[in-house]
Amino acid sequence: MSNDQLRKIASTLLAEGKVKYFLGNVRGADGFSSKPTTARTPEEANEFVWDPSCVNNMASYLHEDKKRILKRGEEPDTRPIGIFVKGCDSRSVALNIQEHIFEREQIYIVGATCEGVVDVPKLKKAWMKRGLPVAATNTLQLSIVGNEVIASFDGKQEKFAKDDVIMQRCKVCRYPNPVIHDELIGEQVEPKPDAYPDLEEMEAMSPAERWAFWTDQFSNCVRCLACRNVCPACYCRECSVQRSNPAFGPRTTPTEKMAKAQFSNKTPTKEDNFNFHMSRMYHMTGRCTNCGECNRVCPVGIPLRLLTRKMDKDVRETYDHESGLDTEPKNLLAEYRDDDPEGGFL
Ligand code: SF4
Ligand code: SF4
Ligand code: SF4
Repeated sequence: MSNDQLRKIASTLLAEGKVKYFLGNVRGADGFSSKPTTARTPEEANEFVWDPSCVNNMASYLHEDKKRILKRGEEPDTRPIGIFVKGCDSRSVALNIQEHIFEREQIYIVGATCEGVVDVPKLKKAWMKRGLPVAATNTLQLSIVGNEVIASFDGKQEKFAKDDVIMQRCKVCRYPNPVIHDELIGEQVEPKPDAYPDLEEMEAMSPAERWAFWTDQFSNCVRCLACRNVCPACYCRECSVQRSNPAFGPRTTPTEKMAKAQFSNKTPTKEDNFNFHMSRMYHMTGRCTNCGECNRVCPVGIPLRLLTRKMDKDVRETYDHESGLDTEPKNLLAEYRDDDPEGGFL
């Protein structure tokens, strides 16, 4: 993986005024991770990184463009948004186009084929376990070669087994090559087999065991909403699973109050947590692109990806549907085929 191609493409697009800004990653302060950023000048784009530290799904940041309120007298900038995507991110961009949140021409997509990204906490742990210097992370460069993640710093190299330090989602990735792009960086990567080994343990549970497992997991949820906020498929302004009382003021009319749905109380009780997660999963059915971001950001380690993967598997097997593979409008819950089975899912 190389930063150079991405920097060149993004800075040229910005210099030529072909995009209004470009969404990419820069190195994070801890040296191990990358953080999403917006480049508005070629110089800023020259700070971009593309390496296995780029875990963030950049599609989540597209929605900010919709929230921006124009200043008085300001004309809207109709140029496309430039965005850097991996395979999984590209599906989220495609989903947003399928759902008409953006039109295809509103996004300029620079895709990169992807061998995987690191699970930063795991890499940090492995780093500390070997007693490697924390200061070295200032110059850290990461790459993946074969089955190893190579960390280069201060003219030295440290190698880690890829399976030990990459994200779980990358071990089963069927779309390492962007499904949609205007420009592409990198050689095609072999997709992982079409299988769900990560679900075997949960699927072997009896209904009672599964109920107990999820009740226990959801009882840990502090309802911080990080899973929802990071999700590239969650873009509603009024969220049906978030209590909206705080938005009420002295001038809120009874009609406005009635219009604000309150399906879950703010206090994270076991019952409301269940309601929150099941409602959210229902909204994600046939839409979730399995990017795994909700799982990654959960501060209490709830394995949300087990739910999203199970949903993906059941939707594929039952309805032969998979979201975000192209830009043609598709919506599982809004479409009906005569041969659709009645079995349901979950
Ligand atoms: S899930 Fe696939 S595309 Fe996404 S980071 Fe992992 S290997 Fe890359
Ligand atoms: S990120 Fe985790 S703790 Fe926060 S709301 Fe989601 S599941 Fe609950
Ligand atoms: S995996 Fe999680 S964050 Fe990603 S699209 Fe699905 S629900 Fe949203």
